[in-house]
Amino acid sequence: MTSIVMLGDLTVTDGRASERTVSPRSTEYSCAECGTVIYVASTRFPSTVILRPGTLDRTEVAAPQAHIWVRRKQSWLELPSNVPRFEEQYERELVWPAASLARIGATDSVSR
Ligand SMILES: [Zn+2]
Repeated sequence: MTSIVMLGDLTVTDGRASERTVSPRSTEYSCAECGTVIYVASTRFPSTVILRPGTLDRTEVAAPQAHIWVRRKQSWLELPSNVPRFEEQYERELVWPAASLARIGATDSVSR
């Protein structure tokens, strides 16, 4: 599970994140103690990061907005019927709230 978060809205409040270059454009930030990946930043989208919401103190604030790549899910996994599903990737314009589209549209013009 991942969430796209505005970089300015993200603060590591406990411990410190260690960074590791994972590609020419991407840097991964992990817990310096246990190595759990917290988020990934890309120079392609400098105003946002890809957050692993399972690392949040309050994981309930990151309820899924869509299930993607459903064609690759495990057969035993049951998905809730009230969340849109996509066999592969999705168009964020079909899923994201208008306020979220407006915020990212003002900063990242390339779609993911
Ligand atoms: Zn840790």
